[in-house]
Amino acid sequence: MSLVGKKIVNQIFGILMIFLIILLLPIIFPIALVISYIDTRKMNQLIKRFICVSCGKQLGAEEIQLGNERWDSIVSEMLAKYPNRKFRRPRSIHAVCPHCGCEYRYNKGNNTLELIPQKENA
Ligand SMILES: [Zn+2]
Repeated sequence: MSLVGKKIVNQIFGILMIFLIILLLPIIFPIALVISYIDTRKMNQLIKRFICVSCGKQLGAEEIQLGNERWDSIVSEMLAKYPNRKFRRPRSIHAVCPHCGCEYRYNKGNNTLELIPQKENA
């Protein structure tokens, strides 16, 4: 096949892939939402069974809410500090113990919570 022929085949393939993705969006999007919901629920269930390693109190919905607020404040600070930069930093705080202030990060790969050293997110 000539170079021009290969280029035309590649363009046709690219256009077909775009149409295929557009056609499959109504299937892909709900599946992504369900997977996200299941992951979040799994993480929340783990947090609600977890005992704080510092003070011994059981974590719960309040700790998840505090984790969300703490992460939102970190993102706001980063956006205020670097307004023109796009961030690809994965979320690093998922729960905060209100009794002792310990911060926990969820590890999706092995479904565990790990204590974050105090200076890591400062
Ligand atoms: Zn604690």
